[in-house]
Order: sequence, then C-alpha cells, then structure tokens
Amino acid sequence: MTLAIDGGTPRYAGGWPTWPPPATEAQRRLLDEVVGSGKWGSTHGPVNDRLAAAFAEYCDVRAAVPVANGTMTLVVALLALGVQPGDEVIIPSYTFVACATATALIGAVPVLVDVDPTTAHLTAETAAAGLSERTRAIMAVHLAGSPCDLNPILALAAERGIPVIEDAAQAHGAEYEGRRVGGIGTCGSFSFQSSKAMTAGEGGMLTSSDQALADVMWSYANVGRDRGGAWYGHPRLGLNLRLTELQAALLLPWLDDIDGQIEQRHRFVTALDAALAGSGAQRLAEPAGTTRNSHHLAMIDLDPGRIGVDKAWVMQALAAEGVPSGEGYPGLHAMPAVQSVARCLPCPATEALNRSVLWLFQSMLMADGSVATRTGEIIRAVLADPRARA
Ligand SMILES: *Cc1c(COP(=O)(O)O)cnc(C)c1O
Repeated sequence: MTLAIDGGTPRYAGGWPTWPPPATEAQRRLLDEVVGSGKWGSTHGPVNDRLAAAFAEYCDVRAAVPVANGTMTLVVALLALGVQPGDEVIIPSYTFVACATATALIGAVPVLVDVDPTTAHLTAETAAAGLSERTRAIMAVHLAGSPCDLNPILALAAERGIPVIEDAAQAHGAEYEGRRVGGIGTCGSFSFQSSKAMTAGEGGMLTSSDQALADVMWSYANVGRDRGGAWYGHPRLGLNLRLTELQAALLLPWLDDIDGQIEQRHRFVTALDAALAGSGAQRLAEPAGTTRNSHHLAMIDLDPGRIGVDKAWVMQALAAEGVPSGEGYPGLHAMPAVQSVARCLPCPATEALNRSVLWLFQSMLMADGSVATRTGEIIRAVLADPRARA
C-alpha cells in the first residue's frame, strides 16, 4: 500500500484527543466559586492552601509550596538550598532548557552531563563524571514520566553531602520503588504548564518532606516573608512567585482524575509496545526502579541497533499518515546560549538519542488502545520503506 507521503490515503484519520481535556464540572464549580468570592490572589484566598495540602498528600510528602511555574520552582529550590553564584549544579543534557536557565539565573554554573543511552535518563555514573569540588546540587530529571534510578544518585550525593532536586515536571504521580516522586530526593519540582499532566495553563509546585526546607522555599516564593510573620518583615530577599486562586481552582479537582488518566495512557502504551514488537522501533527502556510510569511522553527509538535512520523523513511520513510526533531535545550541551554559561561534558548518548528518538505526546496517549495498535502498525509500515534507513 502506497504511503501517504507518496500520495496514498492516510492510514489514520481519526484525530487525537486535545490537551488539556475539556474542563470538568468540578473545575467549573470551584472556578466559579473563586471568581464570585473576589479572592483571586493566594495571599487572601484558601484554595492554594487546599491545593498544597492535597498535592503533598498525593506525593506522600510533608509539605508542598505552590509556585508560578516549573522553571521558578527550580530557582526557588536552588535559593532555598543555599546554592551560591559560582557553585556548580549537575544537569542531564537530555532535558528541557529550564534546568539550565534556572541554574544560570542565580549565577550558578550548569554542568551538562550525558544520559544513559537506553533510557535517556541521568544516572549516577553520568552524574559522577560532572562532579568537581564546586558541585553543590544534582538535578535528577524524571524524564517523560519515568523516574531516574534514584538510589545510586542519592548515594553519590550523600557521599558528597549535596542535595538532589527531583525535577518531576514530567512525572506527576510516577513511582520509584513504590514511592511517589517528589519526596525521595531533597525536594521535588513540578510544572503545571499547558503540556503537563495537570495544568492550569501555567503553574508549578515544590514538594519536600523536610518541613524547614519547605518553609524557606515558601518564603522565597512569597517575597521573602516568613509564613505567619510580619507582612512587611522580609528576613530574606524573595520574589512574588505565587499561583492565583483561579489556577488553584483548575488544579485541585484534577487530583481526583489524574490516576485514571495515567491508567488510560498506560493502556495506550501497552498496546503500542505490542504493536511495535519486531518493527525495529521500540519505546526507550524505563530506568531500574520504575514501578509506575506516568507516561508524559512515549519516547520511541527508531533505531535501537544504531544502524542508521532518517528521523526527519520518518517524522514527515508519519505526519502524512495522520500521526504527528516531536523530535525531542537536541541536548542542552549543544545550545550556544547554554554553552555560554555552562560547563559541558561530551554527550555522545544524548546526540545518538537526538538522531533516533521521536516523541508521541501525552495528549495522543489519551486515545484508546485500538489507536495505539494502529499507530504501531503505521510506524512499522513507514520504517519498512528503504528511505527510512537512508
Ligand atoms: C516543563 C518543564 C520544566 C519547566 O516548567 P515550566 O512550568 O514550563 O516553567 C522544567 N523541567 C522539565 C523537565 C520540564 O519538562
């Protein structure tokens, strides 16, 4: 059968779910309540406090602190942990730029290290390669919904006496060895930006089981105030990084739906794995210790044997068939703007992943299993074309 890129009929015309899903009754009701109350800011309204308590419970941590977005959560975490200008922070190269931006913003030096070639995640080995006497923190990014193999990373950090920030912006609800991410390291950082598993358009949350640290994080996100302290007493210089009550009203009811949504994506990915078997493509492996993948993305390696693939052509051919995909991260170590502030190690695994891995987005994974099977068949058909291996 002719491929759609050559003028054939597209193999899938069913369309894809939108993200975010349509607002629920519970969201509309709470939003309406907040709008009617006139308490739109979290300094005067109660919904942020309810959201923080519910999110902390969901992550099984002592405390959660709402913050404007998942970039500033990282800034606040670094400030609260006492990371100083000139200090170094270990960051995997295969991640979103915010990890490096947040570090550079406080004058610290992002140290870009490579990732595991089969999982695309930071490992203790790749992190260790970036250590120096100036290392003051490790950012463990839970990529695409599956946690880093944290125990070896935590052991490495403990040897050095440095904190581990879990960047869980892509991993709400994911579990490592049966524990929810966000409270396994020193603190966790979440995003509620439009593409994430819970969203209010924008937003973020910090989590920690260290109450004293959470109090300092709260302070840095609340203009340097102490919680319960004087309104114009500012023991430290913080920023106004609060969420609004309107955002919290969209987020709080989401916690009732998120587990069902993760299960939905799990069903899609399970069917996709089955359909890809023997096709030459496969989903990237999950790091050891993953007991629950929240499936923010399906990262598909088109060329696990590294025999060569023309990813750009494959993506075009898939799009023509009705399957859009993303090209993924080019690697922070390769971005001139990041290079200008960072110390970059060689990242050959990141570069290989960039050549052969494409992403299917979370919204697509919300489609049902039959669509997953179809998607796998389409990937197989496209990869069977000789041009895919050029
Ligand atoms: C989305 C994301 C961020 C940044 O979050 P924003 O809310 O968009 O600022 C940080 N780290 C990772 C890994 C992300 O995916």
